[in-house]
Amino acid sequence: MPRIIFGVDTINDLPEELACLGAKRALVISTPQQQGQAEKICDLLGSQSAGLFANAAMHTPVEVTGDALAMVEKLDVDCVIGIGGGSTTGLSKAIALHTDLPQIVIPTTYAGSEMTSILGQTEDGLKTTLKDERVRPEVVIYDVHLTLSLPAEVSGTSGINAIAHAVEALYAENKNQQTSRMAEEGIARLSKALPIIAVEPHNLDARTDALHGAWLCGSCLENVGMALHHKLCHTLGGSFALPHAETHTAVLPHATAYNANADVDAMHSIAAALGVGSAPAGLYDLGHKVKATMALRDLGLAESDLDRAADLAVQNPYWNPRPIDRDGIRNLLQRAWAGASPAV
Ligand code: NAD
Repeated sequence: MPRIIFGVDTINDLPEELACLGAKRALVISTPQQQGQAEKICDLLGSQSAGLFANAAMHTPVEVTGDALAMVEKLDVDCVIGIGGGSTTGLSKAIALHTDLPQIVIPTTYAGSEMTSILGQTEDGLKTTLKDERVRPEVVIYDVHLTLSLPAEVSGTSGINAIAHAVEALYAENKNQQTSRMAEEGIARLSKALPIIAVEPHNLDARTDALHGAWLCGSCLENVGMALHHKLCHTLGGSFALPHAETHTAVLPHATAYNANADVDAMHSIAAALGVGSAPAGLYDLGHKVKATMALRDLGLAESDLDRAADLAVQNPYWNPRPIDRDGIRNLLQRAWAGASPAV
């Protein structure tokens, strides 16, 4: 488990945290979109900053990791600091995998990657995932202020991406009381906060609740196995290049509906945490409340791809509360593609 610092303006703790790790020459990394935020971190660090690499990209392409590793070597770096969402955290983890350098991650979305020892990487258009202790960050600094600039529509889908970890944690094969409590609280905090953020992106209380919920949901992702929903999103993101958080948001009500009768207790817990009567319908309504795109066709998936997506999603057996059957998955995908309401 990383050392966690949570609050407002906690970014000011960064120089001290770096010193505690015994590091003196940190490489700061971000996406091009967050270069401005990353430059401010370099200013805060002064001579503790060795340089900035602002080319992180979605799904951790190995070529980008190669460029960053060249910079690590050239600048004789002794720590990596990632500021951003799952894309930046992915690059930080990939650098750590190759170098074993310590990482300080400053998450600015709700994806939850900072809490896991999981790394997804892309090479030649193929995404693979691994689990390795070396990629787990040493320190995570959650600063609510840094999430205020996350656009309202991105906040909604990113938050539902986090909720997806908690939903699958509640029906996981290896769930336990602690992960289930964290999952329920994570869903409750995020589902209360996200509709507020959709209309008031600068509401500090809602942003605090959402980030706290994201931490809980990310912890669930690390501690229990995921199932059908994550498999479907991995397939759609990896093989059809659909965007990560948006795809999670559109698929989650349908994957939950598929499993509804196989774990009725989990459904009650999810519905109670959402404050609604039905888990799949509640997740579908939440997507609409945050103004998310709820149809995979509007995210770029062609109807002619649905058969191949169903075939890929039933390859390589994995655990799921309801046995995986190809026709059921094909029907689920059809409804998610059209943006129809989930069918239990
Ligand atoms: P992202 O990191 O790509 O961020 C989306 C966009 O929002 C980027 O342009 C980013 O720079 C920008 N952004 C982020 N925070 C901002 C802020 N506060 N203000 C303004 N702009 C901001 O998206 P994501 O959904 O966080 O991450 C997706 C990636 O993370 C995928 O590659 C996914 O596979 C991975 N992921 C990995 C894990 C894991 O445990 N390994 C878990 C979840 C997600």
